[in-house]
Amino acid sequence: MTDDTHSRPAADSAPESLDVIAVGAHPDDVEIGCGGTLARLVQQGYHVGIVDLTDGEPTPGSPSPDVRLAEAAEAARILGVHRETMAFENRRLFDGFDVRVELAKIFRRFRPRIVIGLEGGTPMASPDHEEAAKIINAAVFYSRLSKWDETFDGLPVHPIQQQVWYSLAFASLTPPSGPSRFVVDISDTLEIKLESIRAYKTQFPPEKDRVFRLVEGQASLFGAVAGFQAGELLSGARPLGVQNLVTALCPPPQ
Ligand SMILES: [Zn+2]
Repeated sequence: MTDDTHSRPAADSAPESLDVIAVGAHPDDVEIGCGGTLARLVQQGYHVGIVDLTDGEPTPGSPSPDVRLAEAAEAARILGVHRETMAFENRRLFDGFDVRVELAKIFRRFRPRIVIGLEGGTPMASPDHEEAAKIINAAVFYSRLSKWDETFDGLPVHPIQQQVWYSLAFASLTPPSGPSRFVVDISDTLEIKLESIRAYKTQFPPEKDRVFRLVEGQASLFGAVAGFQAGELLSGARPLGVQNLVTALCPPPQ
């Protein structure tokens, strides 16, 4: 959307601004990592967006990029979010100046208060995830840099208030790092999350059903730890500040 060569807008009409943007390397990263959190934010009235750095193609199961893009659009519709799929290359995603700038342009355009990024790598899975983590972190910084307007097509600077991370490291027992960790209650949105992942029919055929059991099992574990039916574990770039200890620790029942 910000640049014909680097971004393809989703079919929905783009909103003026977004409260929260979550970024992934490929369509389906965000749904798997924090789809329940995004659906919950939408229920709470926030404007939410997903940015994919690549279209995720080619993959063994998909006949063409168009099919994958249609799946991604359907997943966004299920979650109730706006989606931008950028045109950097799957399997060849590397942190670099151009991709940082193009992502920062999207941040400057939609002015999110919170950016949710990928944390760390996924050993034995796509190395794009680790590169995406670096790109997102840099783009959050680039979004607020002044005296660089010509680099960003004149888009005004935008300081992002908070950055948090989701993890795709399913094959790890190491919890995400970062100054804070917290569990988002997704009891009411776990089914929406699962439905959004199911939208990627070419990626998750019946023989890959274990992915859904993994996602559900993890949601049950993280939820139980925090006293919810289902949860997503996120980490924050800063410790969580608390203004009211009672409401922060003892939220009213839904
Ligand atoms: Zn991925």
